Amino acid sequence: MRVILLTFVVGLTLGLAGCYTVPETGRRSMIMVSPGQESAMGASAFADLRAKQKVSEDPEANARVRRVGKRIAEAVGKDLPGAQWEFVVFDDPETVNAFALPGGKVGVYTGLLKLAESDDELATVMGHEIGHVTARHGAERMTEGLIAAAGGLILDTAMKDNKSHDLIVAGYGVAAGGGMLAFSRQHESEADFIGIRYAARAGYNPAAAITFWQKMAKENKGGRLPAFLSTHPSNERRIADLQQWIPAVLPLYEAAKKRYP
Ligand SMILES: [Zn+2]
Repeated sequence: MRVILLTFVVGLTLGLAGCYTVPETGRRSMIMVSPGQESAMGASAFADLRAKQKVSEDPEANARVRRVGKRIAEAVGKDLPGAQWEFVVFDDPETVNAFALPGGKVGVYTGLLKLAESDDELATVMGHEIGHVTARHGAERMTEGLIAAAGGLILDTAMKDNKSHDLIVAGYGVAAGGGMLAFSRQHESEADFIGIRYAARAGYNPAAAITFWQKMAKENKGGRLPAFLSTHPSNERRIADLQQWIPAVLPLYEAAKKRYP
């Protein structure tokens, strides 16, 4: 945390705004955390989650997540330089959730595997989560936090405790241990856009995004808010946007299907 704050302060002093161009969308964002720092925090937070939560040893569930994950990782390619991909299934049938952390660390809960019945639907979720990572949404949010810190709002607490773990976990909406943040509508929409491109390039039907989000909405109607929706707020526009974007990515899907028969 100290290092990040220092980088930020030095960056501000020198007037070096860290400008990042989001892959797939081309949006420019301001990020004062280096990709190396981000990956290191992601790897360390992921190791922590693995140690604290029950990891599934179900061979079928693990094979499924790795099979889909490997193809998505290939589709992501240079959007995430230096990725050290890791796919872990967490054994918790009640938790409908999945997440990705910087550096290519992906966690999927068994509760979500039940809901996302097809590999196409699983690819939608994994593509979306990894979309948040390649777009560096968590780092963007940390930067906003650091700006607030520079304004004196959280400087004291940030300096006192080594909170970088919590920050990165909260930044990527991992629903564990308190400080979880909901992604903004803009970040959700961007991750949707990126996610269907990754799924399509990996040879998974991008239209599965529609059935997946419809299921999530239905799940939520029973008064039960799945962990996934608390960190990835949804709205009616999401499905309309996806329906509009899908035709443009169908050719990517058709081309990829030949590579993945
Ligand atoms: Zn999301």
